[in-house]
Amino acid sequence: SKIVMWFRKDLRLDDNTAFSHLLKQSKETDEVMCIFQLNPSQFIKKSYNHDAFFLSVQTFYKELRKRQIPLHFLYGDPEENFTALKETFDDWDAVYFNKDERGFGRVRDQKLADFFEQHQIQIHAYQDSHLHGVEEITKPTGESYKVFTPYYKQWQLRSKRPYKKQQVIERIFPEIGHPLFDEGKKQFNEIIKQIKLPFDYECGETVAEDYLKKFITNGLHEYQSKRDYPLADQTSKLSRFLRTGELSIRKVWHAIQAEPESTGRQTFISELCWRDFYNMIYFNHPKQKDQEIKEQYRELQWHYDEQLFEKWREGKTGYPIVDAGMRQLNQTGWMHNRLRMIVASFLTKDLMIDWRMGERYFQEKLIDYDSASNIGGWQWAASTGTDAVPYFRIFNPTTQGEKFDPTGAFIRMYLPELNDLPNEYIHCPSKMSKKVQESLGFYLGDHYPKPMVDHQKIRPEILAFFKNS
Ligand code: FAD
Repeated sequence: SKIVMWFRKDLRLDDNTAFSHLLKQSKETDEVMCIFQLNPSQFIKKSYNHDAFFLSVQTFYKELRKRQIPLHFLYGDPEENFTALKETFDDWDAVYFNKDERGFGRVRDQKLADFFEQHQIQIHAYQDSHLHGVEEITKPTGESYKVFTPYYKQWQLRSKRPYKKQQVIERIFPEIGHPLFDEGKKQFNEIIKQIKLPFDYECGETVAEDYLKKFITNGLHEYQSKRDYPLADQTSKLSRFLRTGELSIRKVWHAIQAEPESTGRQTFISELCWRDFYNMIYFNHPKQKDQEIKEQYRELQWHYDEQLFEKWREGKTGYPIVDAGMRQLNQTGWMHNRLRMIVASFLTKDLMIDWRMGERYFQEKLIDYDSASNIGGWQWAASTGTDAVPYFRIFNPTTQGEKFDPTGAFIRMYLPELNDLPNEYIHCPSKMSKKVQESLGFYLGDHYPKPMVDHQKIRPEILAFFKNS
């Protein structure tokens, strides 16, 4: 009979839970169809995240080919695709995949579960993407956690599944002919042809492993003291490989466990827990992409000023650390965590612009876009999420810059127009008197924007905005 291995956000052979089960459970005589389904309703136009993901798929396709494993593409509505496939191959009786536990993928999987059942196709679905699945860690009463710290305590106590290195694959994977696959490949090639990322995007399992090794050698033990400084660039940059599944989360976990204890190691582990935490929160709040988790903030009168939003997007707010963060995002498809917090706070507090607009902009631009972590991060910054920053703790963009980029060297990297500004003005160019501006030949408003809002004065307005909700 025929068996489908449906690859999604698990673009690797190493420690791939569904795929290793398939190899173990299927018979020599079974024909395995490895599939990648392209669903146009998931495509986001002009999106770094979308384009980068497909480059990872392409690399995976090539890697599989080298090992004589053909990856077949399907294009269209998943249910229609699978219906057509079943009509041709009525001996298809099992499907293996790593499940999506939240968001779009979860809804799709639920819909398809009915389809597979109706057609007597056995489902073999596994939790693969996280150290703990969405329902694994609950309070003793069975309720889900809402606050990170008690969740983290439980999470630490639970043992993690082993990492299983992929052994040599000895079986034969036939290339299966079908017009649907021809169409799928054609569409995939079209997608790839149109990709023009303005930055280098390295991908694949080997690259991911190199990033992990490099981080463990150079960054892990100093992670605690350096992770908040964008210039130090000491974080792991593993997020994009975890997002595409090019790296097994269990591989990361066990590699870190093998290291000696240090504060850096401990803090890094807690970050991996945040990833699981937000995944669990999204599962329990399936509407959270559109709706505030905290009920009392669902009626907030967010602002929708397109011009202000555009200035934020382009990194022209007049607050150097905010602008440097946004330009890092626009130029590289990635932004340092500290800056994500600063720019998200600026949009939602200083401008009082709807956090959903920021969340969607990040979705377009981030090569590590992960719905649960992104929505979690945005609702945290907007104070509307569970265990979020309280609304009265408002990031001051100037002091954040002074603290986390003290010499302004990171700002200068992304804002070359500020290159020659003396250090005393780098975080607050508007402090310069007319005389200073003249002496430097640098005029605020011409060479760099004036601050779009006065952070000092806006505080009472923000407090009233939340209090009156
Ligand atoms: P490291 O500091 O090396 O952390 C290691 C890993 O831990 C990361 O790769 C990530 O998987 C996980 N992690 C770290 N911090 C967090 C966190 N706060 N929440 C959840 N997981 C975390 N992360 C994403 O992966 N995708 C997103 O779309 C995303 N959007 C965000 C939006 C906002 C507004 C904020 C404040 C944070 C967002 N984060 C997101 C979390 C965090 O910024 C990134 O995971 C981190 O910057 C990725 O870089 P790194 O791999 O070098 O992280």
